[in-house]
Amino acid sequence: MYDVIIIGAGAVGCGTARELSKYKLKVLVLEKGHDICSGASKANSGMIHAGYDPIPGTNEAKFNAPGSRMMYEACAQLDVPFEKSGCMVFATDDSGLAELDKLEGFARQNGVHVEIVRPPELYELQPEIGRDVKAVLWVPDGGVTNPFTVTFAFAENAHHNGVEFKVDCQARDVRRKGDVWLVSTPEGEFETRMVVNAAGLYSDKINNMVSEKKFRIIPRFGAHVVLDRKRSAKLTTSLMETPHDLPGGGHTKGQAIIPTVGGSMLLGCDAKEVADPDTTEWERPSAEQIINYFKNAWHSLPLGSDGSEFPVDSIIAVFGGCRPHADTNDFVIGEPKDAPGFVNAGGTESPAFTASPAIAEHVAGICIDRLKPEKNENFDPYRRAKKVFRDMTDEEKQRAISKDPDYAKIVCRCEMVTEAEIRDAIRRPLGARSIAAVKLRTRAGMGRCQGGFCSPRVLEILCEELGLDPLEVTQCGGDSRVLVSRCGQMRQEIEK
Ligand SMILES: Cc1cc2nc3c(=O)[nH]c(=O)nc-3n(C[C@H](O)[C@H](O)[C@H](O)COP(=O)(O)OP(=O)(O)OC[C@H]3O[C@@H](n4cnc5c(N)ncnc54)[C@H](O)[C@@H]3O)c2cc1C
Repeated sequence: MYDVIIIGAGAVGCGTARELSKYKLKVLVLEKGHDICSGASKANSGMIHAGYDPIPGTNEAKFNAPGSRMMYEACAQLDVPFEKSGCMVFATDDSGLAELDKLEGFARQNGVHVEIVRPPELYELQPEIGRDVKAVLWVPDGGVTNPFTVTFAFAENAHHNGVEFKVDCQARDVRRKGDVWLVSTPEGEFETRMVVNAAGLYSDKINNMVSEKKFRIIPRFGAHVVLDRKRSAKLTTSLMETPHDLPGGGHTKGQAIIPTVGGSMLLGCDAKEVADPDTTEWERPSAEQIINYFKNAWHSLPLGSDGSEFPVDSIIAVFGGCRPHADTNDFVIGEPKDAPGFVNAGGTESPAFTASPAIAEHVAGICIDRLKPEKNENFDPYRRAKKVFRDMTDEEKQRAISKDPDYAKIVCRCEMVTEAEIRDAIRRPLGARSIAAVKLRTRAGMGRCQGGFCSPRVLEILCEELGLDPLEVTQCGGDSRVLVSRCGQMRQEIEK
């Protein structure tokens, strides 16, 4: 019997697992994907939103600003790269200026420090901003991090402190039996005293299995382009449009350009309602449609001299995912009255990645109040990540290579990822088991060639480390096998 089963290993579920591991509790996290971080937490812009835009009084406002402060603290404890580089919301006309005034009021009520800055002071703060900008809302506490590294770090730290994880293990049914909950999965039925619903885009399905207080998730897709490092020299902070209201309720923060912690730039993202929550790409657009879409996005941003031409040749990837927008227009947090022991952490649209540490603390608090466990005196809040080879000094590189010669073998030339780092990503607790899982943990395949050169070697290393046949290796679990047949077999089949 478990004390708590958490459904979903995104930022919210893994953050909650970490919070619960501060206590002597038997906790299991179930993830339907092949890896931790298979949902919205891997598809987002990685912005740590300070909390200037949620409508005061909502759950989004309640958890955003404290969550952002806790996120910086968690990144420092868990050895995850982050930058408090700030964020500017810009206005180029009178309606934009009115919007900045509104946001300033929201920020004040949400306890977030902001300033409206106008030219010429603005040019001192951001020399590269376009001359058509009338004012910006300057949000110094905004920042960026790697959302997947944060999620893996929450999970690794929770695991280190005693939490169990099962991937490829979907919660198919949740029901009450007397005083306990039964959770059915492909690995059998598990009994638990409490359930936390952190299923993101499927949090409505899980809630609606147990409560008459139903809600519905409206998946909202957003896409980004990744621009390579050479574009990121001048812009020091994220630049964002003013938020837009959306027809189905709520709002989107608008298009933005975001310097990432990895050194590349993200441009995006839109918000479009879609039927399939698992959509990760546009419905087969042509390259021209993608380029035209982002060209417009680029020209909507005031990028000064740097923005005169859309840098088509700097695009290295397009990616996207869906936000779990609830029809309540807010995060759905807490225990429904008719399902004691079942705690929702759902409807987690943006800014729930930023808010995840605060949501986690609140949701774990409900479990702790109910279960009254003893504190885990051995709780270790820290996680040590190995220093990234690319960021080492020459002396550090020499030392690393003399300790482990695999540091001398560069596998991903674009991102300078070594064989030692790839092997570590596979060997770590809750380690990588697919090419995409290695990519998210090490950046191998995230550079300009998008894995064209390094994927075959990553595949070989996965085989060596996990004892797999090359035909068994997948891109991202399930049926996504990378190789279809051996050449000899294929020749025989063709000749038949
Ligand atoms: C394009 C885009 C940009 C965004 N930008 C930002 C941003 O810059 N800053 C920010 O703060 N937020 C941003 N967000 C929002 C942010 O990504 C989400 O708020 C956050 O990731 C939600 O985390 P989660 O853990 O609730 O959900 P998820 O990360 O989706 O995790 C839920 C997990 O549950 C699993 N699951 C579902 N059903 C089951 C089941 N039955 N059994 C087992 N497992 C199950 C899923 O596979 C998934 O891994 C953005 C989102 C998108 C899509």
